[in-house]
Amino acid sequence: MTVNSSTPPKQLKVAIVGGGPGGLATAIALSKVPNVEVKLYEKAKLLREVGAGINIGPNTWNVLELLGVADTLTSGHPISAVLNVNGRTGEEIYKFERDISVKRPAIRTQRTKLQSTLLAHVAPGVIQLAKQLLEIIDKGDDGVVLGFADETKERADLVVGADGIRSVVRDCAWPDYEIKFTGTTIWRALLPRRALVDQDPRFDITGWWHLPNSHVYFSPVGEGLSEIAAREYQDPAVHGASKVVWGVPVTNEHVESHFKSYLPQIQRALQSIPQGSWREFAAFAGPELSSLTSWSHKIVLVGDSSHALSGAFGSGAGFAMEDGWVLAQTLSYFRNDLRKALSLFDEIRLPYYHRMYEHLDAMARGRRTRLEELEREGTDAEEERVRIKAIREGEDMDWIYRNDIGRVWEQIVSRLENVNGGKE
Ligand SMILES: Cc1cc2nc3c(=O)[nH]c(=O)nc-3n(C[C@H](O)[C@H](O)[C@H](O)COP(=O)(O)OP(=O)(O)OC[C@H]3O[C@@H](n4cnc5c(N)ncnc54)[C@H](O)[C@@H]3O)c2cc1C
Repeated sequence: MTVNSSTPPKQLKVAIVGGGPGGLATAIALSKVPNVEVKLYEKAKLLREVGAGINIGPNTWNVLELLGVADTLTSGHPISAVLNVNGRTGEEIYKFERDISVKRPAIRTQRTKLQSTLLAHVAPGVIQLAKQLLEIIDKGDDGVVLGFADETKERADLVVGADGIRSVVRDCAWPDYEIKFTGTTIWRALLPRRALVDQDPRFDITGWWHLPNSHVYFSPVGEGLSEIAAREYQDPAVHGASKVVWGVPVTNEHVESHFKSYLPQIQRALQSIPQGSWREFAAFAGPELSSLTSWSHKIVLVGDSSHALSGAFGSGAGFAMEDGWVLAQTLSYFRNDLRKALSLFDEIRLPYYHRMYEHLDAMARGRRTRLEELEREGTDAEEERVRIKAIREGEDMDWIYRNDIGRVWEQIVSRLENVNGGKE
């Protein structure tokens, strides 16, 4: 469905910066838009994912279907139950079961599997590796020029910043924007599934083992492998972190030292990771943007660069791919008119991200209030604080985990058609 279908779509040169899930999905979706020439610039010499596992829930499956790649993501572990346990006592706090008999059950898969699935659908010649963006120069009516570390330059009409939470595209167009260390450090590794089950059969169920300021997460990810993702929160006013700590190798001793209060089997599980496998990630976050586009519609942000929420909701790859897909629909609908398309993109995605920021603020406030109450009542024993951390009360989260971006787009189109009969 398009507007003004008598005129051919404008010719558009689009430069995507970043080859994570957001950039790859944007490349796939934009390649289907008439008269759009797409190039994707990735700084890595080899496209490889760091990290361990990733959740593919209904919202992410929906966008993978729309991108036409869902059927090729065949590796992963269906999540039939989710467990929350006290990491010091072993007490089960709560467990819920999931129906995995549906066509596409929620799975945990290896990040590399999602990446190779997307990569297989990007047209040859689109991706340029070893292209680290350093700067973007606004050329007025001639678009923009991207400058890379290898001293080459490329012209484009539109830059899509899919370069993650530490985005250089965002730094160029929003120079005052800052991300800060949240206080959370994450360590992630993969290991044979068997090695975990031998320690405790409950490590074979996707689950979190909590203490008040940390947790250890276990999940099978398919192909005989499991994942451990351990997190600890320390007051960021006291403990700093470098912006570059993202996927940095660390020693086993370093990781283990943060989890000495946990059950012996958890400590043994951490010890069973082969030396050299742990990667450390420092979580950064930044404030909400008031628009996802800048420089008179020559720059747009997708994925983590557009909402620096540091992996909150565990669905950021899904959000990034939704952004890429919906951006392509807006361009297609408005026949590559950047002003109209990007304004509509903003209209669709900004309120969604705003709701996430609001939700996280409300959750943090609620938890603080609850902890203060416990302290006043003198009932702030560790078990109670763990329970408050583990039990997520409040709003129904289907607006995230069951989001159907295709349906959202249909509703937008029907609203536009009703307002102007589909004409400009
Ligand atoms: C601990 C943790 C757990 C998570 N778990 C999940 C989960 O279960 N499910 C889920 O959906 N999401 C999860 N997420 C979130 C998810 O990883 C991110 O939201 C997602 O990767 C964002 O995709 P992106 O494409 O926007 O950015 P990224 O994946 O960060 O990709 C950015 C790309 O840009 C490249 N790049 C950066 N700078 C430049 C430059 N200057 N020039 C060229 N290229 C550049 C990078 O090399 C990289 O390839 C998790 C995140 C964390 C931290």
